[in-house]
Amino acid sequence: MNILHHGARDGVTGSCHELQLGEYSLLIDCGAFQGEEAKRSNDINFPVEPIKALVLTHCHIDHVGRIPWLLAAGFRGPIYATEATASLLPLMLEDGLKLQLGLSDEKCEAFIRLVRSQLKPVPFDCRAQIMLPDGQDVSLVFRQAGHILGSAYLEFTLPDRQKVVFSGDLGPSQTPLLVDPVSPAHADVLVLESTYGDKRHPGVENREQVLKAIVEQSLQDGGAILIPAFSLGRTQEVLFDLENIVVQEQAKTGGRSPWPALPIVLDSPLAMKITQTYQGFKRLWAQEAKARVHSGRHPLDFEQCTQLDSHEDHIGLVNRLKASGEPAVIIAASGMCSGGRIMNYLEALLPDPRTDVVLIGYQARGTLGRELQNGANEVIIQNQRIEVKARVHTMTGYSAHADQNDLLRFVRGIENGPREIRLVHGDRPAQEALARRLSKIKPDAKVIVCANLNLD
Ligand SMILES: [Zn+2]
Repeated sequence: MNILHHGARDGVTGSCHELQLGEYSLLIDCGAFQGEEAKRSNDINFPVEPIKALVLTHCHIDHVGRIPWLLAAGFRGPIYATEATASLLPLMLEDGLKLQLGLSDEKCEAFIRLVRSQLKPVPFDCRAQIMLPDGQDVSLVFRQAGHILGSAYLEFTLPDRQKVVFSGDLGPSQTPLLVDPVSPAHADVLVLESTYGDKRHPGVENREQVLKAIVEQSLQDGGAILIPAFSLGRTQEVLFDLENIVVQEQAKTGGRSPWPALPIVLDSPLAMKITQTYQGFKRLWAQEAKARVHSGRHPLDFEQCTQLDSHEDHIGLVNRLKASGEPAVIIAASGMCSGGRIMNYLEALLPDPRTDVVLIGYQARGTLGRELQNGANEVIIQNQRIEVKARVHTMTGYSAHADQNDLLRFVRGIENGPREIRLVHGDRPAQEALARRLSKIKPDAKVIVCANLNLD
């Protein structure tokens, strides 16, 4: 057994790992490079003939975005994924194909049909058998990773009974919409993400209160509140909290709360479709979220939230907010301000000091989101200099990733093993810091900082 890393070895995007088993192999994720790493080619620069199956941990583009290139390189094997990931995959790929590659509707549909024909959805905690051409089989179980809907870590049992676990992206603990990841009982080799291997992000428990305070403070001078959010994951988490705030505020008597009259707008056709998929998989929600549904509430589809689909409606709202300065909460993609409808809002509203921008997700190096986060006074949008007078807030509580403590807890919870931990999906300092901590809690394990691997 050997593992090769074709992406996310020394950064956080382009996840793609190859589990080699003799002359055959399995591919774990096939993600696109994004942000500063987007200059790396998405071309498949490794042989696809040995790959007998692709297994997906979850549906973020940095884990699935290179699938079109993989199929173009000739891969026609099965694509294993959880049921929710299998539902989300066509939406995510279609969006990328149309926007980034500019494919026609016809070509796009043909490609999606091909992907669907290769997809093999597997329920959580059920065993799938992957048969290799030499008759040996590998078993695979998807376990809840708590990162986004359908996200999983993978437990492989190899023909020689070795257990290899790929963490995918692990979610933080104690979020109300999705369940917390539970450590595997046994792992001989663990391939572990390390996005926040050197950081703690406090504030998950009180993030709803922090969001409420930021919105209320910004309402004092009017203006829009822009929340750039990934269509898959962060959008649903923030909608979930906004619904709860609105319900709590409506219950208060006296009518002094600004919340019941505050427009909340989801301006993203993709996020709308993904939100519907979230609603179709309520069985995967955490207890708290299920309890709200049972009490008759609609946590992701509440009355006060307007959804904009057409481009005309979108442009209409941008112009209206620019002219009126009226208060509204706008949730739009992309999460790192590197494209999508949020760009039109930023271009129109950043020069207005009444505007508030709330950054709730990871802002990769090289993105406009990172520039805003770093306090830029001026940014370039669509080749124009835009003055930044808006207030920019950064919230840590909406991170979709486990922090250092969560990662350590995940590893500590493994009763049997691991003898080897390979750190991926993190910048080098994050991998190194996590490695130092892991060596203390699992002194017998060999901890490999993949960012430092010599590739020759
Ligand atoms: Zn992810």
